[in-house]
Amino acid sequence: MSALVVESESFSYSVHYSARRRSVALQIKQGQLTVRAPLGYGLADVKTLVEQKQLWILKHLQQSAAQLKPDWLALQQVPLLGTMLTLELRRAVKSSVDLCNDRLVVTVSCRTQASDYNNRVQALLQQWYKTQAVNWFTERVGYWQNRMQLKAADLVIGNWRTKWGYCKNTAQLGFNWRLLMAPAWVADYVVVHELAHLKHLNHSPRFWQLVAEHYPQAEQAKIWLRQHQYELEL
Ligand SMILES: [Zn+2]
Repeated sequence: MSALVVESESFSYSVHYSARRRSVALQIKQGQLTVRAPLGYGLADVKTLVEQKQLWILKHLQQSAAQLKPDWLALQQVPLLGTMLTLELRRAVKSSVDLCNDRLVVTVSCRTQASDYNNRVQALLQQWYKTQAVNWFTERVGYWQNRMQLKAADLVIGNWRTKWGYCKNTAQLGFNWRLLMAPAWVADYVVVHELAHLKHLNHSPRFWQLVAEHYPQAEQAKIWLRQHQYELEL
C-alpha cells in the first residue's frame, strides 16, 4: 500500500493505492479527504473524480472540520503563536480586549444582549487577532526580506476561508489573521513562502528550492497546517 498527497485549489488530500481494492472510494475523516483506489487506477482519473465531486467534498470537509473544531470559549483558552492564553470574560460599560501576561481579558459591553454574547466575544477576539497580526507580520516580513534579499511592496491582513496568504504581481503580500493561532514557526513558513513568490510567481521546483533554502522546516509546517487547520478558528 502506498500513499501520496495531492494539493488541489482549495484543499489537499491523500491517495492510497491497494491491491485488494476493486473500486475507488472517497473517505472524509477528521476533516481530511482520503481517496482509496485500486492499483493501476491513474492519478489523472483520481484528480478528475475529485474535481467532479468538489462541491460534495467541500461540504463534507466543512461539516467534518466543524465537529473537530475546539470550542475555545468553553475551554476558556485561545492559542497565540504557540502559547496558550487563558480567556477571561467580563462585563463592563465598554467592550475591550486586554492581554495581561498570559491572560486575555475580553470585556463585553453591558448593552450586549445575552443572545448576542458569544458572537460579540468572537468578533472582539477576531479584531484583536487582526491587530496582533498586523504587528507580527510586519516584523516577520521585515526580518525575512532582509535575509532573503527580497522586498515586498505592502502587506494586507485578511480573513479568508481557503488561503493562508498570497503574493500579487504588484509585490503586495497578504496573510490570514488565523495564522496567529498557529505556532510561530508555522506562521513563519507562510511568510517565507509568500516572499519566495516575489522571485517565482508559481509553485515550480525552483520556487520550492528557494523556500527550502531559507526554511528547512517548510515540509513539516505544511503538514502541520493540513492537520491542524480546523483548530485555527474562533
Ligand atoms: Zn504559493
